[in-house]
Amino acid sequence: IPWNLADFDAHEDVHFFHDRSTGLRAIIAIHSTHLGPAAGGARYWRYAGDDEPLIDALRLSRGMSYKNAMAGLPMGGGKAVILRDDDGKGEARLEAFGRMIESLGGRYVTAEDVGMTDEDMRVIARRTRHVSGLPVAEGAAGGNPGPATALGVFLGLKAAVRYKLGRLDVEGVHVAIQGVGSVGAALARHLAAEGAVLTVADADEARAAGLAAELGCKSVPAREIMRVAADVFSPCALGAILDEQSIAELDAAVVAGAANNQLATPADGERLLSKGILYAPDYVINAGGIINVATEYLGQGDAESVRGKLAQIPERLTAIFEQSERRGLPTDRIADDMARRLIGRD
Ligand code: NAD
Repeated sequence: IPWNLADFDAHEDVHFFHDRSTGLRAIIAIHSTHLGPAAGGARYWRYAGDDEPLIDALRLSRGMSYKNAMAGLPMGGGKAVILRDDDGKGEARLEAFGRMIESLGGRYVTAEDVGMTDEDMRVIARRTRHVSGLPVAEGAAGGNPGPATALGVFLGLKAAVRYKLGRLDVEGVHVAIQGVGSVGAALARHLAAEGAVLTVADADEARAAGLAAELGCKSVPAREIMRVAADVFSPCALGAILDEQSIAELDAAVVAGAANNQLATPADGERLLSKGILYAPDYVINAGGIINVATEYLGQGDAESVRGKLAQIPERLTAIFEQSERRGLPTDRIADDMARRLIGRD
């Protein structure tokens, strides 16, 4: 174990598991339980190097601490990575993963992440109750977090437009959306309903063209979307898309979208600031999904109470924008500082 990894950021504990009967290997990293049980999804991924799963678990769990704190949730931050191999996921393995979670006695609560589905959560739930994101009936909180994420991004994007462009609505505001999957397409529909002008793109060109036909907007090839002259660029596909080169080419006043880890490096937050582009920190604006998942886990309410919590996303973003302007620091730095204070790590 590379104990000297910089990514060990005062994590409370890190657990390595191996299940003898199924061969399942997993890491569960608990960054903070200061605000409540460490919540964060399980990632099922084939890793190249030996250190990669640990680095991923450490970084992602720290990110969840910040995200949950800034979402105002009574939950800490954690993350699980399950090492994908040729033997697949399988029910016995998912149950083994459930037993691993159960052995932590509620310090860690899992949910979906890359490679995991709500059906997987149902199998895991046979062995532990510390699991969320289960399939649920229509109208209840829980289930697929995409719609809640999209609504939160929509509200946050409007707050950024208000702050940067002084516009109280999005009528006629041009938004370029990169990726129109679960979140991006729902975001596009919210924006179209309020009269925004849209340009959409997706690596799956037929998907982008279908949405463009539905909403009567333009679609462009995926490689062009970051150069479209627009008021807002909304990344809803991949992480690390904001780097030195793409920021130099970006022709938008605001960046506000759902993708996780949008900045390739911390220096890119500085670059956006010095170019005068207002960046809505990703883990603040895309918290709708975790708010949905946490509300389900805590049994605290229904779709209506989720909407009430989503309404706080624009307020939080506006507070970050104001501090950033006052202190001349990038918005991502301000958000990290606020989050660290909330979890008692400043
Ligand atoms: P998704 O898989 O449903 O959609 C992603 C879309 O992006 C797909 O249509 C895909 O074809 C497209 N895409 C991939 N590479 C692209 C590229 N280079 N250019 C343009 N399009 C590309 O995923 P999603 O659930 O909509 O999530 C989108 C992003 O938001 C991801 O980064 C995800 O981590 C993040 N996010 C999602 C949620 C949620 O609740 N689903 C919550 C928080 C953050």
